[in-house]
Amino acid sequence: MTKREEEERNPETTPQRESAPPDADPSLSFDETARLLREISEETFEETSLASYRNFVFKNTLKGLALGFICDSYVFGKSFFVYMFQLAYTFVQCRFGDFNQLLGSPPSPAELWRNFQDPELIFIGSLILLSCIVFGFWDGWREDRLRLLALRDRRRGERLLEASRKLARINRSLERLAVTDDLTGLFNRRFALQHLTVAVAAAERYARPLSLMMIDIDHFKDINDTYGHEVGDMALARVAKDIRSLLRDSDVVCRYGGEEFLVILPDVNVEQARVAAGRILSHFSDKSLDISGMDIPLTVSIGLTGVEDEFPLDCTELVRQADMALYKAKREGRNRVCVFTAGDREEFVEIFTFQPESRLVELSSKINELRSTLRETALSTIQSLINAVGARNESLMEHMRATAFHARYIAVAAGLREEDVETVFRAALLHDIGKLGIPDSLLLKPGPLDKKERRIIERHPELGARILAPLGFMRREASIIKAHHERYDGLGYPDGLSGDLIPFEAAVLAVANAFAFMTASHPFREALSEEEAVSEIARQRGKQFHPLAVEAFLRYRSDPNKYARRP
Ligand code: GH3
Ligand code: MG
Ligand code: MG
Repeated sequence: MTKREEEERNPETTPQRESAPPDADPSLSFDETARLLREISEETFEETSLASYRNFVFKNTLKGLALGFICDSYVFGKSFFVYMFQLAYTFVQCRFGDFNQLLGSPPSPAELWRNFQDPELIFIGSLILLSCIVFGFWDGWREDRLRLLALRDRRRGERLLEASRKLARINRSLERLAVTDDLTGLFNRRFALQHLTVAVAAAERYARPLSLMMIDIDHFKDINDTYGHEVGDMALARVAKDIRSLLRDSDVVCRYGGEEFLVILPDVNVEQARVAAGRILSHFSDKSLDISGMDIPLTVSIGLTGVEDEFPLDCTELVRQADMALYKAKREGRNRVCVFTAGDREEFVEIFTFQPESRLVELSSKINELRSTLRETALSTIQSLINAVGARNESLMEHMRATAFHARYIAVAAGLREEDVETVFRAALLHDIGKLGIPDSLLLKPGPLDKKERRIIERHPELGARILAPLGFMRREASIIKAHHERYDGLGYPDGLSGDLIPFEAAVLAVANAFAFMTASHPFREALSEEEAVSEIARQRGKQFHPLAVEAFLRYRSDPNKYARRP
């Protein structure tokens, strides 16, 4: 498939325009902005020129005069007003024709002169006139001043705005510098982790997929060693640039470590990310890089992981998954893409935590764990076997339980190891399990058994051992059960073993079995008292029973509580 076809098929994963942390604006500097701000704060507004002041004084005096003129006419009467008007009229050389005609009857000069001679009127009129002039002057000056102040403020405002814009640009530039890697111009690790947290939260909120790529240059150490660090740096920058250009705008590419890159691909599922990763992979493996006129062959390994609906997800865990997948890619021979699967975790953890000593400790703890699991399994298996017996024959179950407790105490009294005591106990709990294979009519028969019947009954130790045979972990118990009817003098069954050929645990079980049997009542036989049973067993010492087992039994019976208290 050509690249174009691929792009058409996969618009999601094809690069759009290049994006990386934009370069810091070189025209912006702290010094320059600080100077600008200083200028604004110290700025003095240049005073208005003398000419413009003269102009406005004249203008406003005229304004004041006109005002005063109107006011005075109220004070001196209409005739005064007309007179003043006539004066003005004469002054402008009678440009409006015969004014006297228009006015009809002008005041006589004598009348005006009389008005004019009244000192009170003259005083008030002059005062008003003066105040009007002053007012007009002041008002004009104030208006002019306000206009100038507004102008100055506007200019200052513009300059402040410009300074704040510059400061904002400086801030942005500093922010960019803080998250940018110097060598490659990509985002740095700090940004990568911050952004990943945001991206994971967004993906979770909007139920969108998210993928993560960890890219590591293969054998980069060799490139440094062969061409030198300087060329190594150039190669690194070039790889960064190429990776950036091979991905789409919304993918965030970061330099995660030395020669490791982390790519966050929002809204991209693993399958789509795999296509993008494949593109990066073949870009580097297909041709060598031309760096300072040197052809440098270089490949990368890529670890890939992603989430679609397994939220909530910890972003550290996501990075770890990408790392594990990368590790797998390295281990499988480099120059490849590996996608994280759950199985990778164990492999990764196992290999990275491998230490011979800790391995041994770990192994022994595992064995212990296994042993306790087995023990639990064994006990639950025994329990279900006992339940099976109980369902069919309750008295038989009672007998086995009683035998088990006696056997345990005898074993303790005989000084067996704790483990062996437990084995004897379990064997005793199940010692008659073989009787499940024998008809009840025979087991519960009140009268004495004939030879054939006895032979059938005597098969139960073997049958019991056979029942337990499939449970490998019950092998010892099975052999004890098989031998629990052997006699010390060799007259027992099924194998006629004698003396120390009989497992000691089986000898212990034989004594416990006899004691439990004798002290219980049966359809064909009355129960003996405990003392009778003890003396009967003591009598059989060295004959039916192993002497050491009998001794232990007698110790136990002489002080049952002492042994019963022990597990
Ligand atoms: P591989 O990943 O395939 O297992 O082998 P590698 O040689 O790339 O792996 P390793 O992680 O052992 O070595 C990474 C090297 O990258 C070590 C270091 O010299 C080099 N490196 C890391 N950062 C820079 C850098 O900024 N410039 C240069 N020139 N080299 C760097
Ligand atoms: Mg490497
Ligand atoms: Mg590396």
